[in-house]
Amino acid sequence: MTQQQIEANATYQRALSRAKAQNLMIGAVGAFKTTGQKFYGVTSSANDTMYIVKVCGNTLACNCKAGMAGTMCKHRALVCNHIIEQSAKAKAQEAQLAEVMAEEPEAVAVPMMLRHDNTGPRLFR
Ligand SMILES: [Zn+2]
Repeated sequence: MTQQQIEANATYQRALSRAKAQNLMIGAVGAFKTTGQKFYGVTSSANDTMYIVKVCGNTLACNCKAGMAGTMCKHRALVCNHIIEQSAKAKAQEAQLAEVMAEEPEAVAVPMMLRHDNTGPRLFR
C-alpha cells in the first residue's frame, strides 16, 4: 500500500467509527428512475433527515457538507462498509452452495412452489 492509500484507509476507519458510534443507519436503498443509479439513504446524526449516498461507478458520492467537499464522510464510510460486508456474505453463501452442489447435486433440487425472483413471490406466472 502506498502512503496515500494508508492515509485514505485511516480516514475511512475514523469515519466508520464515527458512523457506528452515532448509530447511523442505512434507512433506504433504491435507484434513481432516470439514470438507474443506485443510492443509499443514510440517517443523519443531527436530525431526522437522511443523506443520499450515490453509487457512481467505483466511487460513492454523498450530499452532506463534508461529502460535497469531497472528503470521506461517515455516510459514505457506512455505505462502503455495508457493500464490503454484503459482498463477503454473498461470496461465502455461494462458496457454501457450490460445496453442497458438488457433493450432492440432488440435495439442492427441490420443487418450486412459488416463483421467487427479484420482483418477489408471485402466485401466478
Ligand atoms: Zn455524507
